[in-house]
Amino acid sequence: MRVTEYFDIAIVGAGFAGMDMLRKSREMGLSAVVFERGKDVGGTWYWNRYPGARCDVPSMEYSFQFSDELQQEWEWSEKYATQPEILQYAQYVAKRFDLKRDIRFDTIVLSMHYEETESAWLVTPSQGPAVRARFVVTAMGCLSSTNRPRFTNDELFRGEVYHTGEWPHSGVDFVGKRVAVIGTGSSGIQTIPMIAQEAKHLTVFQRTPAYTVPAHNGPLSPQYVQSVKANYADFRAKNMKTRAAIGGDTPTGTRGATEVSNTELNEILEARWAKGGLLFLGGFNDAMINGASNERIAQWVRNKIGSIVTDKKIAVRLQPHTVIGCKRLVVDSGYYETFNRDNVELVDIGLTKIDRFTKNGLVANTKEFEFDIIVLATGFDAMTGSLLRTDIRGRGGQRLADAWSAGPVNYLGLTVHGFPNLFTITGPGSPSVLTNMIVSIEHHVEWIARCIHYIRERKALSVEATREAQNQWVEHVNAIAGMTLFPNCNSWYLGDNVPGKPRVFMPLPGFPDYVQRCTAVESENYRGFAFSN
Ligand code: FAD
Ligand code: NAP
Repeated sequence: MRVTEYFDIAIVGAGFAGMDMLRKSREMGLSAVVFERGKDVGGTWYWNRYPGARCDVPSMEYSFQFSDELQQEWEWSEKYATQPEILQYAQYVAKRFDLKRDIRFDTIVLSMHYEETESAWLVTPSQGPAVRARFVVTAMGCLSSTNRPRFTNDELFRGEVYHTGEWPHSGVDFVGKRVAVIGTGSSGIQTIPMIAQEAKHLTVFQRTPAYTVPAHNGPLSPQYVQSVKANYADFRAKNMKTRAAIGGDTPTGTRGATEVSNTELNEILEARWAKGGLLFLGGFNDAMINGASNERIAQWVRNKIGSIVTDKKIAVRLQPHTVIGCKRLVVDSGYYETFNRDNVELVDIGLTKIDRFTKNGLVANTKEFEFDIIVLATGFDAMTGSLLRTDIRGRGGQRLADAWSAGPVNYLGLTVHGFPNLFTITGPGSPSVLTNMIVSIEHHVEWIARCIHYIRERKALSVEATREAQNQWVEHVNAIAGMTLFPNCNSWYLGDNVPGKPRVFMPLPGFPDYVQRCTAVESENYRGFAFSN
């Protein structure tokens, strides 16, 4: 093994998490290197270039707050930014902070092994020399390993196949084409209206209907931008006090959905629908903890779908009967309306599945469909996918894949017992994908930085979560998830979308409480961690 370099810190991934960790490492005077599979920065926004891709957190919130100059300089054009604009933002940040000189692009980290004799990690990339680093930080993304289900005979299809999460940089021409989209989660729901406008015919294969609320996207008014920028710190602070670190200006309702009359329920939900976006569910304070309340809201949305989709039989098929919010609520631009078009067809495969692919298309419900292009909007091996696809071994050569064979276990969602000096940004067991991810990323980066500073001050060689602290944390995460309705459906939060994945609710609901717990651990000299000298 050729090891030519030694770094204080090796970071895997150059999405927003890796970029911020690099910036912070430099600020602390640490030598740092970043490895990135892609050819540029941006992570999610580098890979997901499908038509219609944009954020579902308002742009004024979906950005870094570590630099006031940066947040004052950058101009978002729309309420919900498009993928190209977010990618431009990532590139702007990389340039402004001169990040790229420490990033090795086009380079996959194949393995990370902890060497006890060195108290360091040996990081082996797909090209170039291996490096040793005292600390490793995984910034590998929660939604960065695509889920590409195998279909019978899928190798036979002679047309084009694209996954939304690995979209070609040259774009895809749908004009005059017969197109299939498989999957109706956020990616499918964003891209279906766009593809429908170009394609000759679009067939949507739906396994489970999703709840989606309108974005009501549009240009940002200069007055609004000005008002946020005038008090950006206050705006950010308010957002961070909410459960999902989103939308501090739109407080959650103070009553449950079963405590109001039909008229009030309608008024509240109509107002939230008119405003649009993820905060739709915040009209009441018990949407995700009270089944009866949740069902009242869900029924209201089903009625709404019925009022938008003109063919009543299609409307019924688009109406979900799961717990609303249990899978991530989708934010759309004209999704239900798309099914009023003549060139769009909905095929249910919830009970029957896709039988097989053929050379000209696929067979579902015993009918053969012919396509030029098949789009897989089938999601990701979420939260653990990228970590477990990498050969990560801790003390005694223990594999992370073995330590997590029954589901991810860790302490604070940040560190794993048996894996000293390894930190996971927005790992399972932290609020992560239930929040505005950039807020969670920045919180983790700052926490990790302070922890590393503490280790260095103490002149310790390593830090590691104790088994006891980890067990207690896992219990805590399970207890919180168990108080909610999240476990009541088959979602990627639970790993249900990937065959064979252990069924564990991975993220931790509740950002402010989580932050408090992390701060408390820190102020008690890193309670639950063992340091070695
Ligand atoms: P990523 O952006 O996923 O970056 C991780 C990087 O690590 C990737 O570039 C990957 O190539 C690299 N990598 C992984 N493994 C390796 C390896 N072994 N070697 C080298 N490189 C590796 N969140 C929100 O809060 N709001 C939104 O509106 C929102 N919209 C989204 C839309 C889409 C289409 C998707 C897929 C996700 C969305 N998310 C959203 C979640 C989004 O992933 C986060 O907001 C954020 O971009 C994550 O940044 P990250 O740096 O943690 O991970
Ligand atoms: P997803 O939510 O997991 O949706 C995948 C879809 O594919 C589901 O409809 C699923 O059906 C279907 N599917 C999976 N395997 C299938 C199979 N074998 N046969 C048929 N259908 C299959 O994935 P996603 O849409 O890519 O979104 C993932 C997450 O990324 C989102 O929840 C969100 O956090 C983020 N995201 C955000 C945005 C945004 O608005 N900013 C956009 C895209 C993604 P089932 O429901 O039955 O499993």
